[in-house]
Amino acid sequence: MDKDIAKVLLTQEQIAERIRELGQELSSEYAGKNPVVVGVLKGVVIFYADMIRHITVPCQMDFMCISSYKGTSSTGTMTVSKDISADIRGRHVLILEDIFDTGNSLEYTVRHLKEKGPASLKICTLLDKPERRNPNVTVQADYVGFTVPNEFVVGYGLDYNEGYRNLPYVGVLKPEVYETK
Ligand code: 5GP
Ligand code: MG
Repeated sequence: MDKDIAKVLLTQEQIAERIRELGQELSSEYAGKNPVVVGVLKGVVIFYADMIRHITVPCQMDFMCISSYKGTSSTGTMTVSKDISADIRGRHVLILEDIFDTGNSLEYTVRHLKEKGPASLKICTLLDKPERRNPNVTVQADYVGFTVPNEFVVGYGLDYNEGYRNLPYVGVLKPEVYETK
């Protein structure tokens, strides 16, 4: 285990097993629909690469990136810093996310993609942290890998100051890591 990790929340094996289950559900949901699977960068990359290989029906891969500029207000303003390249009008779209936390970024992502006129739009998130949800957020996740407690997690794509993304598991950082950086 990495020296900065206090505890492992989800092991590689647990994640792999859950992705296999989700893959079966998603493969039946999207059979014959040739969905566009949109990953929200960068945190999703590891989950995306594993998840897409368990979607056993034809699909198209695409990515977008949103940036938030935290001002003095608590919500912050978001922009699309990299948009998808596919034309999704009339297409079935599945969003893959790393974590559904306050929900602000998914709310923004869904609004942005809906303007492009998809036939359907669903969300699959690896992690859900419901305790932190912004009460004004209306979007809901259609598929959830794991519900996690209100702790800051890293690994399997999730970062702290751009570090720890390559840990193969999801873990909680030691408090002193925050205090010294
Ligand atoms: P939101 O609060 O809008 O639902 O989540 C926005 C983004 O904050 C997530 O996509 C993720 O990048 C980051 N985030 C939220 N909670 C955590 C966490 O526990 N750990 C890490 N590393 N990132 C998080
Ligand atoms: Mg993210």
